[in-house]
Amino acid sequence: NPALLEVKNLQKRFPIKKGLFKEASYVHAVNGINLSIYEGETLGIVGESGCGKSTLGRCILRLVEPSGGEIIFQGEPLHQFGKKEMKAVRRNMQMVFQNPFDTLNPKLTIKQILTEPLVAHRVPHQERERLIEETIEIVGLSKRYLLRYPHEFSGGQRQRIGIARALMLRPKLIIADEPVSALDVSIQAQILNLLQDLQEQFSLTYVFISHDLSVVEHIADRVAVMYLGEIVELATKEALFEKALHPYSQALLSAVPQTDPDDNKERIILKGDLPSASNPPTGCKFHPRCQACMEICKTEVPMHREVDGRLVACHLYE
Ligand code: SF4
Ligand code: MG
Repeated sequence: NPALLEVKNLQKRFPIKKGLFKEASYVHAVNGINLSIYEGETLGIVGESGCGKSTLGRCILRLVEPSGGEIIFQGEPLHQFGKKEMKAVRRNMQMVFQNPFDTLNPKLTIKQILTEPLVAHRVPHQERERLIEETIEIVGLSKRYLLRYPHEFSGGQRQRIGIARALMLRPKLIIADEPVSALDVSIQAQILNLLQDLQEQFSLTYVFISHDLSVVEHIADRVAVMYLGEIVELATKEALFEKALHPYSQALLSAVPQTDPDDNKERIILKGDLPSASNPPTGCKFHPRCQACMEICKTEVPMHREVDGRLVACHLYE
């Protein structure tokens, strides 16, 4: 499949003030990300909170303006687009958020919420009603619900409404940022299955952001593991879950509850907390927490290399 979206050396710095003299400083939330996302696939992006995965998702949609690098969607570099052109692009790129309650206007009925994107993109009046009724049923809700308000729904139902809103304009790409993290485990599976059905029905491409590897294992085709604004490993789901290569991926995976009781993999406890992105460690940014840390790791940044059909940034594989 051709690449629907390419991310090239993407950077996002947020200015911060620190220290006695308030010298200008930056947090590198996203630091040189390269990715190709292929039509029809689900790319999982995993990492601890604060690793920059949400910022990456928002930069792709330009909800947050990148500080550098390129985003190419359907062959077109987005940074050259003005507001009007970006609006046209957004028809094809939509976002689903973690907590739909925060993003569904409580004063609007579901019908009004679903009408908004249609109005914004000038979908003709005569098509709106049909699209709304069709979409609410596609996400598994009744059109009887259209005149109700968000607070009348459960968490899972609200996420279905959030998904319906993202689907209204029949986009090509959906970026889902922790879309099931706020839900009970039983509801999580229903929403993941819904997303998979919709992917097939509408040939959707997903970027699926999550801190939860078991969720990503359920839905992703490929997985990018992020640490402090960078991708440390990028592999097919099968390869990653069979054998993670990067010590950070190994630690994340070892924390996933085992489904096979005979598989007594030892849990790797990460030393220390996630370091501050405003003052990242030298060399390999993971080195203060890495059990395999070598001298070289403290000073030299590991480059991405292809190892066993995947990308990994670690001196162990040089
Ligand atoms: Fe650990 Fe060194 Fe690999 Fe970084 S480069 S993950 S410190 S072994
Ligand atoms: Mg986040």
